[in-house]
Amino acid sequence: MHIDVVTIFPAMVEHALRAGVVGRAIERGTLAVKVHDLRAFTTDRHHVVDDVPYGGGPGMVLKPEPILRALAEITGGVEPRPRVLLTSPQGTQFTQNVATRLSRDARLVIVCGRYEGVDDRVRGLVDEEISIGDYVLSGGELPALVIVDSVARHVPGVVGDEQSVAEDSFSRGLLDFPHYTRPAELMMDERLPANGAAALRVPDVLLSGNHAEIRHWRKREAISRTLQRRPDLLASADLDDEEREILRQLTAGKLE
Ligand code: SAH
Repeated sequence: MHIDVVTIFPAMVEHALRAGVVGRAIERGTLAVKVHDLRAFTTDRHHVVDDVPYGGGPGMVLKPEPILRALAEITGGVEPRPRVLLTSPQGTQFTQNVATRLSRDARLVIVCGRYEGVDDRVRGLVDEEISIGDYVLSGGELPALVIVDSVARHVPGVVGDEQSVAEDSFSRGLLDFPHYTRPAELMMDERLPANGAAALRVPDVLLSGNHAEIRHWRKREAISRTLQRRPDLLASADLDDEEREILRQLTAGKLE
């Protein structure tokens, strides 16, 4: 998969992409991310990318021409045509389903807004506007990184173990089950507030070596967590027979 990001702060995006799973995927060539400096698509001597808003008011607006030039250059002659995304708090809410859908495109272009936003005429040239949530950020760089990171996780070979992506929260409409590592018994520092001694021991079933029981326990935990924290997700969750039975028992109050 190939993703182009257009921004006035390329270093901010490039730096963040070097770490972790995404950084390794880029090194291996499983994922290619090219970050373009919007100023490179200006034609004036001072590389101006913003201007005052028509109609007055505070703040500046990203000029349309550099963005149009960037899109023409990046998408020109590329088949199939890349999907062009504009980051915007007014866009479609970004979810795990949107990430999965976008990961099926061979190429994406992500445009990062700044200031008061981009000249509204740019909207006519993009395929989709994407919001990462109902809050306003100072620029589209963090949203672009959120999109790249979560879309990349669905690209085969990016996350080493595809099973882990399938089990991640939201993948099937369920939250993930809880994870533990060593030690099995955690000595609490008495300076820290403990919220229940039971929380200090790893659940016995995980130490039992009984894989069938572990699998069942994890399903039950995922369902009971979803029921407690995000019951709204269950309406469209993709459950198997065993999970449906667990949910039925949990809602009937038979299991704790
Ligand atoms: N005045 C605009 C917000 C501009 S914020 C409005 O109220 O709609 C500047 C830029 O940051 C936006 O153009 C967009 O690219 C980005 N941005 C801010 N919040 C965002 C969010 N929640 N999701 C995606 N992009 C966002």
